[in-house]
Amino acid sequence: MKAILCGLLLFAVGALGEARARQRAASKDERPGRSAERKRDSAQPQEKTAPTTARVLCTLGSTASPYNAYLDQRPTGDAMELSGKVNAALVAMCRPNCPTLALFRNSTAANLMLIVDGARTKILYKPEFFTSVYDNYGDGGILALLAHEVGHAIDTAAPPPWMKNGWTPELRADALAGCAFAKMNLGASALRAGLTTLSKYPSPAHPSWEMRLPALEAGYTQCGGDRMTFAKAGN
Ligand SMILES: [Zn+2]
Repeated sequence: MKAILCGLLLFAVGALGEARARQRAASKDERPGRSAERKRDSAQPQEKTAPTTARVLCTLGSTASPYNAYLDQRPTGDAMELSGKVNAALVAMCRPNCPTLALFRNSTAANLMLIVDGARTKILYKPEFFTSVYDNYGDGGILALLAHEVGHAIDTAAPPPWMKNGWTPELRADALAGCAFAKMNLGASALRAGLTTLSKYPSPAHPSWEMRLPALEAGYTQCGGDRMTFAKAGN
């Protein structure tokens, strides 16, 4: 257990404290009576970590309003539990160089985002999006989306030796998602739900499904999954 926790780590408690502290800092600046000048001054240091400077590694869907990091919230227990499964499935792939990830819920985020903000790597999900995916595809859908994003993070920090150099970052993330499906030993219906969810919610940067499916299959079989089981679920 300890080994898993010190590897790839999706955490919430520390993240919650931090989000609250930042919310307190943000609301302080909005107290009535403060001059516009002082407001500008107090905003200066925050610009260093402003979302506009964050590097977006993957995004699904678009945002109507700009992502506001001050509104990051602790993920739900269900989301944490599912991210824990993905974590346990993939940690052996990147140990001892696993990235540290934080999972947040944020209504100003795109449907799902993976961003590097300074030294932090964050997975952000829009609550309505996860609710809708869960209602339509169940655990398998959420697991697939999280596995794709964690796959991006691992590929950036410590790609496994079997990863193909010719693949784009999106295909590499899919291959690691496929690996996670095998390691989690997903049943036929969850596997099908996972693949359907990935195909239904691509980002503009994602290649066509005809390219993605073979990468998912390669990761799946590479990590011990049965080719026939995958082929049935992917049809
Ligand atoms: Zn992606």
